[in-house]
Amino acid sequence: MKVTFWGVRGSIPAPGPETNRYGGNTSCVSVVTATGHLIIIDMGTGAVALGRSLMAVEFGKGKGHATVLLSHAHWDHIQGFPFFPPIYVPGNRIDIYGAARSSSMLEGILEGQMNPHFSPIYTLRNLGASISILAVPHEDMARVDISSTARIRRAAPLSIHGVTIRAAPNPHGTTTALAYRLTENGRSFVYASDAGYPPEGPSEAALKLYDGADVLLHDCTYTPEDRALRVARGFSSFVDAADAAARARVKRLVMFHYDQDYGDDVVDDMLARCREELDLRGAKDCQLTAASEGLSLEI
Ligand SMILES: [Zn+2]
Repeated sequence: MKVTFWGVRGSIPAPGPETNRYGGNTSCVSVVTATGHLIIIDMGTGAVALGRSLMAVEFGKGKGHATVLLSHAHWDHIQGFPFFPPIYVPGNRIDIYGAARSSSMLEGILEGQMNPHFSPIYTLRNLGASISILAVPHEDMARVDISSTARIRRAAPLSIHGVTIRAAPNPHGTTTALAYRLTENGRSFVYASDAGYPPEGPSEAALKLYDGADVLLHDCTYTPEDRALRVARGFSSFVDAADAAARARVKRLVMFHYDQDYGDDVVDDMLARCREELDLRGAKDCQLTAASEGLSLEI
């Protein structure tokens, strides 16, 4: 898998000279599989540059097919979608997966941002590409889905072009955000943004999802000092990220989703302090990287 970061910022874009090195666009990560299939995780404003680059290849000719995984539908994870040029090219196919009790509920959420109050697009039905919207099947969501029947349906993991995809919800303020684990040929990449754990840390399900991953991309919105002031917003500090990485014994931790008010120097400082936190937890072998726009990793 080739993972590329197109937007690494949280909450709202933060362009300007102070954020040039890490980048000011909101969450968007692309994963190109061994077979060349494109998976996009979240579509914050980073998706705009990704979409432009795709227009130079088969998506510009209406022959593209991409899978989109949404962690949740806060603006910084969907706002690039209406500005993603491949959705206007007839012939392209975009399959969107996200957390919802049903696919129609997820469609309603995404339709909302096309509403004329927010956008001149009016409706998802005005797009040229073929868009399918599907609720993610995973065990916890299935439990929610059929809570009225007392039966627990076990949903199978998704399998897309040879990549197995599992998901688990993390608490995120008043809502939840899905974390995803992508496994291909024995290598695994975990995307865990927007995670506001309780004081005891990640759930057993989350730790199982992260367990031994080659790369864990994790929410690092805050310094621990700022997180303490804003616990209700439901984000991690780099200490929470280091703790999750050490407990799950991942091979590499990638910091992600920096607060919009942090300049590059603050992120540099967070990177150094996060290294210390990993070492304190006995995770000296865990590599550490701060995600920046344009950076790619081969996993
Ligand atoms: Zn976010």
